[in-house]
This record gives sequence, C-alpha cells and structure tokens, in this order.
Amino acid sequence: MRFSALRVLKEGLTGNKGWGPHWRDPEPKPEYDAIIIGGGGHGLSTAYYLAKNHGMTNIAVLEKGYIGGGNVGRNTTIVRANYFLPGNQEFYSHSLKLWEDLEIDLNYNVMHSQRGLINLFHSDGQRDAFARRGNAMINQGDDAILLDREGVREMLPYLDFDNIRFPIYGGLYHPRGGTARHDAVAWGYARGADQRGVDLIQNCEVTGIDIENGQVIGVQTTRGAIKARKVGMVVAGRSSQVAAMAGMQIPIESTVLQAFVTEGLKPVIDHVISFGMGHFYISQSDKGGLVFGGDVDFYATYSQRGNLPMMEHVMEAGMTLMPMIGKAKVLRSWGGIMDMSPDGSPVIDKTHIDGLFLNCGWNYGGFKAVPASGWSMAHLMATGNHSEYASKFLLDRFRSGYGLMDEEGTGSQHNLH
Ligand SMILES: Cc1cc2nc3c(=O)[nH]c(=O)nc-3n(C[C@H](O)[C@H](O)[C@H](O)COP(=O)(O)OP(=O)(O)OC[C@H]3O[C@@H](n4cnc5c(N)ncnc54)[C@H](O)[C@@H]3O)c2cc1C
Repeated sequence: MRFSALRVLKEGLTGNKGWGPHWRDPEPKPEYDAIIIGGGGHGLSTAYYLAKNHGMTNIAVLEKGYIGGGNVGRNTTIVRANYFLPGNQEFYSHSLKLWEDLEIDLNYNVMHSQRGLINLFHSDGQRDAFARRGNAMINQGDDAILLDREGVREMLPYLDFDNIRFPIYGGLYHPRGGTARHDAVAWGYARGADQRGVDLIQNCEVTGIDIENGQVIGVQTTRGAIKARKVGMVVAGRSSQVAAMAGMQIPIESTVLQAFVTEGLKPVIDHVISFGMGHFYISQSDKGGLVFGGDVDFYATYSQRGNLPMMEHVMEAGMTLMPMIGKAKVLRSWGGIMDMSPDGSPVIDKTHIDGLFLNCGWNYGGFKAVPASGWSMAHLMATGNHSEYASKFLLDRFRSGYGLMDEEGTGSQHNLH
C-alpha cells in the first residue's frame, strides 16, 4: 500500500474503505538472522536500514509494549544538527540529511518541519560559546546564523527582552532545525521495515539473553525462546536492565524527563526556541498546542511520572521568557525514561560477547538521532565495522577515558548533561 495524492483522493471518494493495516502482526518464528530488542525509534530504524541497506530481512523487532509507546512517542519532537564536538558533529549532520529525505524514503508523512531553531543567549560569555558552536556547525557544512538582540526581536517580538535578570543579548539561529511528528516517525519506520519482511512482535518482552561460549545464540521472551546469532540491545531507558541480562554492567543511569502541552491555540510561535538562563524550550505543534519542556528530574528512576519541582521550574522559566504564555492552559504533562551516559553522548558498539551489540546513551536528545542511529547500528550489525558517522560512539571510552565527548562540559555526572 503506497501513499499518494491520487490514493488519498480515491479513498476520499470511496468511503476510505481501501486502507489496510500499516504492518502485519506475525507470530514470532523460532529463529531469525538478527533480533532487535526494543521497538522504539532506534530499534525500528535499525531494522529498516538492515533490510534496506544490507538486504537482511529475516529479522525480528521484539517490543515489550506497543510500537511508539516509549520515548519515541513521548519526546518534544525537536530535530537539529547543532553539535560542537567532532564525533557528534558528523553524526547529527548525517542524521539531519536523512531527515530531509525521510518522507520520500519511507513514503510516509512524518510532518518534518524545518521551521528554524533559536538558542537564546543572555551574557557575553554565552555569546562567545554560541559563536564558537555556530562556527563549528558551519565548518561541518551545516547552517548557523548569529543574531543580535534586534535580529531576535524581529523574529520573536513576543519575548521579554528587558527582563532585569536575564536580558536577551541575541541568539544562534539554525534555520534547518525544526520538528517532526514523533509517533509518525515510529510508524513510518515500522511500516517500511515490515514491507521489507521484518517481523514486528509487540507485547513480547525479552527476559533473558542466551550466550554460549562467548557467542550470543538467542533470547528468552514472554512469548518463548527465539534464536539468533546477532542481537541488538536498543532499549533506551531500559539499557542497564537489558544489558544486565547478558551479565554486563554499563555506565548508563535512567532519569525521567518531563514535557508539557497546552490547549490548542492559533499559530503564535513559528520556531523552536530555547531559553539560555533556565530550563525551558518551546515550539507549537501543528494541532496548535504549545509543546515545552525543561531538564531531567535530576535523580535516577524508572518512573515515567515526573515531579513537581521541575514542573514548577519549567513554568517559571517560561513565564520569565515569554509572559504571554501565562494565559495558556496546560492540557497534559508526561515523562519518559532517559538513558543518560556519563559524557552525554551515545554508544553504538559491539560488546565483548560475539554477536551482541549495544545502542544506548541518547540522553534527552535521541529523537533527532533516530535516522543516523539506525543507519549506523545496521551498518555495525551487518558488516561488523563502525559506520563512518558513528565511529567515536565506543563503549570503551568510559573505561579508558579516551574519546569522551562532553558537549556540556559538566564532567562525568549523568544527570547534568
Ligand atoms: C519528554 C521528552 C522530551 C524529549 N525531547 C526530545 C527532543 O525534542 N529531541 C530529541 O532529539 N530527543 C528528545 N527526547 C529524547 C528521545 O525521545 C529519546 O532519546 C529516544 O526516543 C530514545 O530512543 P528510542 O526511540 O529508541 O526509545 P524508546 O521509544 O523508549 O524505545 C525503547 C523501547 O524498548 C522497549 N523495551 C525496553 N525493555 C524491553 C525488553 N526487555 N524487551 C523488549 N522491549 C523492551 C521499550 O518498551 C521501548 O518501546 C525526549 C525525550 C522525552 C522523554
């Protein structure tokens, strides 16, 4: 079933009776060439690119809940390529290029909207840091424009420029940054993988990893044992728990991150904006809701329910930056479990167990990484070699101390990245 304008027109005229399910609901087979644990954005894109780029189609994605129920359907949908450090830079740059062709590639409307992202700065020191970041982005081939105060005012006249404590000095504008509809990304990759023969098995929790003589040979699940000599652990906030099934202790802590959405409003905010002096960033969804969030809740937990202190902080920061937001009613808030790494950068690597691969450490920024992460993880699982875009995401850096990529410069403290 392909989507096209003609098809939409035909279905519209014939009562929309011709649409079918987007993917099959198969029973698990006893054995696959490869298993991906986790049906989030990264697991689904890994399966998609394994099939598309490497011709591996005898694959299963095992998801303990339902497709899109994890962080991939809980994030605030921001897509950008504004990283500073080598290692991250080339990866996120590649990811943004994949985003730009994603809808055609998947034949699926993921509502990717390059509405532009503006990181505000409020001091000379912050201006210097963003100028350096902007130069690094341009050197990488991405786009960045340093705006002064008047430049920001022209684009975002509703901000409080004269706040006594946090006056706005300017902003780093990244025109190709923006948003995408998060669950459509999961559905698009799921449908694309299914069309290429990948089995998507929902309600199938992996409860054990079978290893024989240092080689992975399969997994135990709530729907029985399934064999495979290649297994990818792609479970985001549950990474430490699943890795422990293989006897591994990995340097990932799980922390809840909250988000909020208001009632639908007429178009008022047409960019993605982040405040430089408090934990607050915002965009407006296509339905009209103001979607905003802040930082993680600062302590390790597997709870998906956020707490009031961070909620209060986010609301205060929002009111400081744009007092008009006080008129909007908050409709919902929710949380997701973040896989925080010690340097704030991810891992896409082999493990010491043959055939067992690890993809984790996305912190609160893994949505924008979904295309390049799947691409790179698939490359690693299919060929045994690291993709050129993710060659620095090695697990061993946390043991050796070489190759750490600490964008925030906060040191090895998981909750501060
Ligand atoms: C509130 C919030 C805002 C965010 N905002 C942004 C943003 O604006 N931009 C951005 O780039 N990133 C953002 N992120 C981060 C981004 O959503 C995550 O980094 C990314 O989605 C994680 O990868 P994933 O999609 O594969 O995770 P998930 O969707 O969580 O996928 C992991 C899957 O593994 C499954 N699983 C776990 N254990 C098992 C098991 N034992 N067996 C089988 N399956 C299992 C889970 O059920 C889950 O479906 C945000 C996150 C949150 C919560």
